[in-house]
Amino acid sequence: MKKYISVELRRFVFDRAKGQCEYCLIHDDDGLWPHEIDHIYAEKHGGETIESNLCLSCDACNRYKGSDLASLDPESSEPVFLFHPRRDVWSDHFRLNDSIIEPLTPKGRATDRLLKLNLQERLDERTILIEIGRYPTPS
Ligand SMILES: [Zn+2]
Repeated sequence: MKKYISVELRRFVFDRAKGQCEYCLIHDDDGLWPHEIDHIYAEKHGGETIESNLCLSCDACNRYKGSDLASLDPESSEPVFLFHPRRDVWSDHFRLNDSIIEPLTPKGRATDRLLKLNLQERLDERTILIEIGRYPTPS
């Protein structure tokens, strides 16, 4: 059962992320569906409903991530933890190359594959957003 997340905590997580998905960086204003509050470590693994275990995620990233904590690095086939928006720095693990989110590390590669960050339809969406100056989101 999903634990209740207070309006205040939702607002805090949204503002901390500046309205952007903390995995693929798309802004809440630009997605088809509203962004969601993601338990980085899912409740079924003991992840708590606290600031340090929550992030803002778009519908697609959240759906593909599910309750997973780890995956295999596609290059080495070794298990690695997924990118953790509270403990890891995005630019240490990914870099933007036009619409492509290029993974830089084992963690980045595993996260890219599991969350399907570079699915063609997602690339197409980001290409349009780049053209209209909405990706990455202007600060
Ligand atoms: Zn996303």
